[in-house]
Amino acid sequence: MASPISRCRVTSCLAATLLVAWAAVAVPADPYDAPRRHMVREIAEMAEETAIETDRPRLDARVMQAMGRVPRQLFVRPGDLSEAYDNRPLPIGHGQTISQPYIVALMSDLLRLKPGQRVLEIGTGSGYQAAVLADLGARVHSIEIIEPLGRRAAENLQVGGYGQVRLRVGDGYHGWPEAAPFDGILVTAAASHVPPPLVKQLRPGGRMVIPVGGAFLTQYLLLVEKQADGAVTTRQILPVRFVPLTGGH
Ligand code: SAH
Repeated sequence: MASPISRCRVTSCLAATLLVAWAAVAVPADPYDAPRRHMVREIAEMAEETAIETDRPRLDARVMQAMGRVPRQLFVRPGDLSEAYDNRPLPIGHGQTISQPYIVALMSDLLRLKPGQRVLEIGTGSGYQAAVLADLGARVHSIEIIEPLGRRAAENLQVGGYGQVRLRVGDGYHGWPEAAPFDGILVTAAASHVPPPLVKQLRPGGRMVIPVGGAFLTQYLLLVEKQADGAVTTRQILPVRFVPLTGGH
């Protein structure tokens, strides 16, 4: 017959088991799960709607999976959490914005990145686009010209588990020559022209996606491809609206 002490042990053991079972049931569900799924559906719909211009009615499944994984709420301001998964840009301070999710997905898709490839982003902003590229398995380098934004992006990326993204503060017009060549280059601010240093830092076979146009003029998202022989071709994808590329270049 069990002694009072061992009965007590049995009871506490049972209590511990129940506690573990309760904890397993009580792990709170991710409150952003449903909004994130909804955002992914909206991106898919928008891709179909814009297919005449983009030629991409369905974006790469890997890009869509990344959009369904990256916690966008970590990259928006605390006051905007309830809008974190709206399919539109949001302010991030210093007159800058985190891009619209559909545009982030489209630009990532247009790069056709394979895991392990090297990519350069100009305009880190919140760090969200960099996180999506890192989630795709790319080795991401990103340059931001506004120092406090660069610092906050570094924190956001660390918290999101994307601490491997390499960041630098400076004028991205000149690229990151020590880390070149890149398989992909993404510019997330509108330039008046395609910066020659970036074309130079693109690997033959590589792709650059860049909005080109004035702050008050129509801007077009361009796909710039460097062929194996070094020849460069440019294709206009669709009209867009980005903050301007600044800097003294
Ligand atoms: N990709 C960002 C959104 C960027 S908004 C995100 O996912 O949140 C455009 C960013 O480009 C702004 O943060 C702006 O400060 C930055 N920028 C503008 N001109 C730049 C330049 N010459 N070099 C680097 N960054 C620049």
